[in-house]
This record gives sequence, structure tokens and C-alpha cells, in this order.
Amino acid sequence: PYVKAMEVIERPNVKYKDIGGLSKQIQEVRETVELPLKKPELFKKIGIEPPKGILLYGSPGTGKTMLAKAVASETNATFIRVVGSEFVQKFIGEGARIVREVFELAKRKAPAIIFIDEIDAIAARRIDIGTSGEREVQRTMMQLLAEMDGFDPLDNVKVIAATNRIDILDPAILRPGRFDRIIEVPLPDKQGRIEIFKIHIKKMNVEKNLDIRKLSELTEGFVGADIKAVCVEAGYNAIREERDLVTMEDFIKAIEKIKGRKKEVEPEVP
Ligand code: ATP
Repeated sequence: PYVKAMEVIERPNVKYKDIGGLSKQIQEVRETVELPLKKPELFKKIGIEPPKGILLYGSPGTGKTMLAKAVASETNATFIRVVGSEFVQKFIGEGARIVREVFELAKRKAPAIIFIDEIDAIAARRIDIGTSGEREVQRTMMQLLAEMDGFDPLDNVKVIAATNRIDILDPAILRPGRFDRIIEVPLPDKQGRIEIFKIHIKKMNVEKNLDIRKLSELTEGFVGADIKAVCVEAGYNAIREERDLVTMEDFIKAIEKIKGRKKEVEPEVP
């Protein structure tokens, strides 16, 4: 069966205001990706080169994909997403070709943002490359490096990579002219969780005096994706009881449920 190796969105509809608790990261992404796409002449005049690629790192579900989509949306750029692990699992033997095609497509559809999720799957440091599978992954990475080196920093193509395993990346990938801007996307703090709750609750029919501060206090350690899941689950609690207002009680039950689910998938929290 034919599986798509890349996801192409002509113009994603994520806005910066849809992202809670990451104002510093948003500002950095705007400076390093958005500004050079919008005003390359500024960089020419001053005589500095903007990064071709940036690396976002942080736990799953913290908003890395959203950040990349938001820049694409803001710059009217085509958003092209590939997932590192799929090169290893689904597209064995095709990695280098797909990488080449992704960059070709980006140049054709420029301005474009290439988003490489789980880049660690193709760009991990390797002690030995014995098996043919490992050699194939190595070839995919070499092709990626060649493509990164092959375009101009002022071309209107930018590459955003994401990982939650920055510790295992091959340093070659982080060299100047490649992914030389590293931005940490942390777990949201209490204020960040309030912002994320507000973003998702805005679209819901909730009781008047919902205590969002309290919800934030009850969700320490939750990422944005968990908070989104809490909101959906709270909505289901109301639907199940055939109510059309979602209550604090619905949210509290939902938090307990998501907490249980998180414990199953992350048995050991360091
Ligand atoms: P992964 O590393 O698993 O790809 P990610 O960091 O890219 O995760 P996203 O895919 O951007 O996370 O987030 C998943 C969903 O969780 C988003 O579509 C959004 O609904 C919600 N979400 C995550 N982070 C935030 C945030 N900071 N503000 C608002 N919503 C968020």
C-alpha cells in the first residue's frame, strides 16, 4: 500500500495566540525563522546570516509542532512535515530519496518550512554502523546534511527539527550552517498551564466560575497535550450525563483520569 512519506499543508492555521506558556520560545522562533523569511534584506544590509535550521527540544506534547506550524502560518509558508522514525520503520531504503524530494518540494513551494519531527531517529550518534539498517539510516542523515549545506541561508526555505533526545544527537547535525540554533521547549509552569487551559476552554461551554488557577495547581507535570486531553475528557463527562455545561467537577474527574493514563505510559518519573 502507498503510504505518504510527507505531510504537506499549504497554509497551516495555527496562530501564535493558540500556543500557551511559550512566549520566550515564540519570540526566539520569530527572530530566527520568521524575520529572515519576511525581511531578508535586513540581514543582507547588516551582513549577518540567519540560521537555516533550528532545533526544538523538549518532552512530547509541549507544542513543538504547533510552534513550527505557527511560523509557517505567519509567513504564508508551505509546511512540510516528515517524521524521523518513519524513515527507520516504514521507508527503509528510501530515506535519502525522500529527504532529497522534501527539499526539492520546499524550494518549489517556497516560502516553505520543513519540519522534521523525531530527528533523533535519523541523526543519533552511532558508535558503529555495522548492520545494513544502520548504514541506511546513516545514508539518510548524510543526505540531510548535504541538503542543509546545499541551500543559501537567505533562500526562503527554513528547516525546523524537533527531538526529545537532544543528548543522543550526532554533533555534526548541530554544526554552524545546519541546526545551529537550539531552543528548549520546556514543560509549562503554573502560569503556562493557566494560559493553555484558557486557550482550550475558550471554545467550550463551561460553568461561569470555573477555577482555572485551581486546575493549573492540580496539573503539575502536565504538558499542553495532556491539558488538551483533560479538556476533551471533561467535555465527555458532561455529554455522558446529558448536560450542556461543563463543570469544575467534570474537569477534576478528567484530571484524575489523565493522571492515571500518564502513570501507565511513564512509570518512572525521574
Ligand atoms: P511531539 O513531540 O509529540 O510531536 P509536540 O511538542 O509537537 O509533541 P504538539 O503536537 O504541538 O506537541 O501538541 C499536541 C497538541 O497538544 C496540540 O495540537 C495542542 O492541542 C496541544 N498543545 C500542546 N502544547 C500546547 C501549548 N503550549 N499551548 C496550547 N496547546 C498545546
